[in-house]
Amino acid sequence: MSKIKLQSLAGMHDILPQDQVYFKKFNKSIEGVSHYYGFNRIDVPVLEQAEVFIKGTGQGTDIVEKEMYSFRTKGGDLVSLRPEFTPGIVRSYIEHGMYNLPQPVKLWTSGPCFRHERPQAGRYRQFTQFSLEVLGDKSPSIDGQIIQMSFDILKDLGFKDISIEVNSIGDQECRPYFKKILTGYFRSRKSSLCSDCQRRLKENPLRILDCKEEKCQRVKAGAPQIIDHLCEACHAHFKQVLEFLDELELPYALNPYLVRGLDYYTKTVFEIVEKSENGQSQGTLVGGGRYDNLVKLLGGRDTPACGAAGGVDRIVNIMKTRELKADKKQEKTEIFLAQLGQSAKRKSLKLFEQFRAAKIPVTESFSKDSLRSQLNTANKMGAKWVLIFGQKEALENFITLRDMETGVQKEIPLDKVVEEMKAKIKN
Ligand code: ATP
Ligand code: MG
Repeated sequence: MSKIKLQSLAGMHDILPQDQVYFKKFNKSIEGVSHYYGFNRIDVPVLEQAEVFIKGTGQGTDIVEKEMYSFRTKGGDLVSLRPEFTPGIVRSYIEHGMYNLPQPVKLWTSGPCFRHERPQAGRYRQFTQFSLEVLGDKSPSIDGQIIQMSFDILKDLGFKDISIEVNSIGDQECRPYFKKILTGYFRSRKSSLCSDCQRRLKENPLRILDCKEEKCQRVKAGAPQIIDHLCEACHAHFKQVLEFLDELELPYALNPYLVRGLDYYTKTVFEIVEKSENGQSQGTLVGGGRYDNLVKLLGGRDTPACGAAGGVDRIVNIMKTRELKADKKQEKTEIFLAQLGQSAKRKSLKLFEQFRAAKIPVTESFSKDSLRSQLNTANKMGAKWVLIFGQKEALENFITLRDMETGVQKEIPLDKVVEEMKAKIKN
């Protein structure tokens, strides 16, 4: 029989124990910011009817056309693994009649998303995304708030060189006219575009602005700008968003060619990137914008909305390389419980449980038998105190406490040890 080497699928990666601390830190940051801004957590299924994304994310997008994991169930339903959160959250908003709640409804979530992309740095097939969504409010202050929150989360995590790019892509009033102008521009330069973009020219010329091919980027550089063609309402909205960003003193720049890869955006779009000095960019960290037509498109009432989505793995990758040290304080070992001999080992399991009940963090090494190797471990972990539970101690019901800094030892009766250690860690 040939041996098959089992390994993770291309583009799928394990989050190993040593990296959990970064995700934990990220979770703490998004929970804190969301709570402060009055956002409630929602969790939607990983699997939805494919239609949710085909309609929501959009038929013409790369995500739906090329990247979705879709399959038929045994019952014959066409389903997809979520490539992003927004359409599922909108489906849930409609399904649960959340329009009956006081508006706006502010939601956040975080979890795995799936896209069948070409794996590369910061680009996976299963990745963790976070999402902030505000449904039922058309005020430009919401756009400002979403951008501020996205920025806050990264700031919280120690990111310093981040910049925000913003644009407005208009609405059904002004965009069709702009598309015509843009099509005219690209048509006269068709031969200089990549084959994908030559096709996009017919279906959605705006998407050409989002193409990452170098030859298309060159053509793009001279293209007409939508800002010059916004209708009055979109223009006024965008102006107010920028005024909010000024007021908030956020470091933003206008990018007249920013369109984002999704179909549902209207008016404001933005991206947050990290300025990389060493060229090792992870790409966009957070992207978002307003999507005033999506709720209606998925069968709900006319409901304006705005949101943001961020790539947690990319954020974590940068935290790691920059050694934006994750909060390890809680993980730090202060008390180490060492044991020697069968009777002591048995009793120390019970003692350990008593410490847990008293909410006192203690590190143990029950599987080790040698006292010396346990003391070595305690030393490496930087333990302040070691509780030594040996044969004599087990027999006479006391424990030896060693202060690792001074080397001073003392004996404590077994039934007093939890109490005494509690007092010690308080100081
Ligand atoms: P990109 O231009 O990098 O492909 P996108 O426009 O497809 O990004 P969105 O759909 O807006 O991205 O998703 C929001 C965020 O999720 C991105 O800014 C990125 O940080 C993250 N993200 C998207 N796709 C991936 C992926 N395949 N692997 C890891 N993170 C991803
Ligand atoms: Mg993409």
